Amino acid sequence: MLARTAARFGRPLGGIRSYSGDAKAVVYSQHGRPLEVLKLHTYRLPAAGAGQVAVKFLSAPINPADINQVEGVYPLRPAFTQALGGDEPVAVGGNEGCVEIVGVGPGVDGLAVGDRAIMRHTLFGTWRTHALATAADLIRIPYGPAEVSAVQAGTVSVNPTTAYQMLREFVALAPGDFFIQTGANSGVGRAAIQLGARWGFRSINVVRDRPDFDALAAELTALGATHVVTESQLADKGFRNVIKQWVAGSKLRLGLNCTGGASTTNIARQLSEGGHLVTYGGMARQPITIPPSLFIFKDIHLHGYWLSRWADANPAAKEAVLGELFGLVARGELRDVPVDRAVWRDGMSDAERLDVFRGAVSAYIEGSKGRKQMLVHE
Ligand code: NAP
Repeated sequence: MLARTAARFGRPLGGIRSYSGDAKAVVYSQHGRPLEVLKLHTYRLPAAGAGQVAVKFLSAPINPADINQVEGVYPLRPAFTQALGGDEPVAVGGNEGCVEIVGVGPGVDGLAVGDRAIMRHTLFGTWRTHALATAADLIRIPYGPAEVSAVQAGTVSVNPTTAYQMLREFVALAPGDFFIQTGANSGVGRAAIQLGARWGFRSINVVRDRPDFDALAAELTALGATHVVTESQLADKGFRNVIKQWVAGSKLRLGLNCTGGASTTNIARQLSEGGHLVTYGGMARQPITIPPSLFIFKDIHLHGYWLSRWADANPAAKEAVLGELFGLVARGELRDVPVDRAVWRDGMSDAERLDVFRGAVSAYIEGSKGRKQMLVHE
């Protein structure tokens, strides 16, 4: 079916190029466990109307927030609608992704067929093959595929931007200063290591215990990590003195928290007087416990960070940060998180597509092992 509709792609229509055809999406009509509620939906994509572009998806990751939306436990969730037809209202999963413009309606400036773009906002619904969008939904990628691949572009707007902002917004770190973080091998953590190293900051990176710790530590060190430690090392009082010696003569004023639980308490203990602990994730699904002494005697400050809030309030600033990040990716100075590709090919049956996607969701649920699951269209 897609092969048939692909034949219609790019057909000139009065100077405007149009695309229409069947499209596929991973949707849900109720919140719940992803493997139980996700299903495949087929819908007809009309040609782009006035002010619209038709886009073909090239890549879309499975991020923790996407899964939390499907589960119904994330504060921002897409509405269930019948905009895509069907018997019942559904929401399309996924927030981040990279698209190619395959049709341009009348009155659209700044986007042409063949351009690539990423989503400007969350909630677009990116786990699909095609969609109609407006120029306001998209940020054009100012580089070609040889410089920034679709996979790289598909993960740049959330995690690296979050790391960028957290390293800048809370503490005016100076070159040589340290920061410490949990979940250091996450997408955000890897971006923080690389951006931090670029700006001259040293980092202490906490990861969960694992048999292949040495290999992971080597990988993160190659990205620019100064030290990599396990959660159990961090929990060990003796080892915490080792960390204090690493930091001696400098300051550790910023902690980035991806997890919650004991490791968060332990990175807070490492902070210098007046230090700031910024929580952006809760991967361990455990509360944050801070001993009163850290407030009283060390004047520790706790913050939360949510990229969506900042991006909605500062759209121009977000675009400027993204422009900088695209440049770093294009020059090979910001490496993306390792990716497992869940590939949708033209001609695949609905059952095959759903199977491939469910496989990626299962891999996500089993634990990231430092890799991002990504839907890729070939
Ligand atoms: P990711 O690349 O999928 O990596 C997930 C990370 O979480 C890995 O380091 C993983 O470690 C760790 N992890 C998983 N389960 C854990 C557990 N039970 N205890 C401790 N660590 C665990 O993640 P990401 O896309 O970077 O996102 C990381 C977090 O940041 C998520 O909570 C996400 O929602 C959040 N986030 C927030 C914002 C914001 O604006 N606040 C923006 C972006 C991301 P292993 O390798 O050991 O499994």
